[in-house]
Amino acid sequence: MNHFEQQLRILGEEPFESDRLDTLQVNLGKLCNQACLHCHVEAGPLRTEIMSRETVEAVVRVLKTHDIPNLDITGGAPEMNPHFEYLVEQATALGKHVRVRSNLTVYFEEGKGHLPRFFRDRRVEVIASLPCYLEGNVDAQRGSGVFEKSLRALRWLNEEGYGHPSTGLVLNLVYNPVGDYLPPPQDQLEEDYRRELSLRYGLVFNHLYVITNVPIGRFRHDLLRTGRYDDYLQRLRDAFNPTTVRSVMCRNLLSVGWDGRLYDCDFNQMINLAVNHGAPTTIFNFDLTRLERRTISTGEHCYACTAGAGSSCGGALT
Ligand code: SF4
Ligand code: SF4
Repeated sequence: MNHFEQQLRILGEEPFESDRLDTLQVNLGKLCNQACLHCHVEAGPLRTEIMSRETVEAVVRVLKTHDIPNLDITGGAPEMNPHFEYLVEQATALGKHVRVRSNLTVYFEEGKGHLPRFFRDRRVEVIASLPCYLEGNVDAQRGSGVFEKSLRALRWLNEEGYGHPSTGLVLNLVYNPVGDYLPPPQDQLEEDYRRELSLRYGLVFNHLYVITNVPIGRFRHDLLRTGRYDDYLQRLRDAFNPTTVRSVMCRNLLSVGWDGRLYDCDFNQMINLAVNHGAPTTIFNFDLTRLERRTISTGEHCYACTAGAGSSCGGALT
């Protein structure tokens, strides 16, 4: 039993079970036009693992035959998968609410300039990474020139109507710490972002999600290499907040890997911690009844979701 499971037992939350499934989060692969320092996916331009058409079709079949209202598409840069547009079109035609986790700079890759309008026409929610409103911090984490391109992409989305409350076209931003510390309070940082992006660049957005860095993938390697892993994990443990446990995203979300395997969340996917306890393990043998009441697989990294105000793909939990 890992340390996190012991916490759950103390709280009387063991076995830790999922509830109604409202979101299928599909990871279209590890291919990305960036190679950020903190990336838990360890994505990059040379990765070849991407979801095939056959697996995308299986996802569409599941969406068609089950009452799962939300499709959350992630990667890598999911827009680089050649079946990306097909998946979005099929899901929106089925009336699903589609969210795309976008790194923004991908719109400037060859053949990707249609994306902002493609999103607008299908009323896709865009969730865009922007770890700071200061150029130096963004470029340090995500690569030289990323900040300037990100601003251009945000301006483009604003011009298509994104981020203006009256249009209903939702543009949410994602902040994650540049280092091994917990994020500041979400409301306060959202105010700072709104003020600074408006004053400095004339940009608008709907909400800011703050997400705690999970000590897996490239971020974990960096922590280990620099001897900071144990301290970071201890910081997360010390900040454990029991009130977040019932709101963690794995309770209502299921993650689909690029090869069709199922996971309790994208983080578990990246450490190959598949759904277990008898639940179906791939999109090809999907069984909603069994998956909705599955026991969630947890690990030490789950402290990142339950530290401080809590953290999920939709930001803080409390
Ligand atoms: S953090 Fe996002 S943009 Fe950066 S390498 Fe990973 S998937 Fe790509
Ligand atoms: S990492 Fe977070 S979302 Fe994933 S299983 Fe742990 S608590 Fe749930």
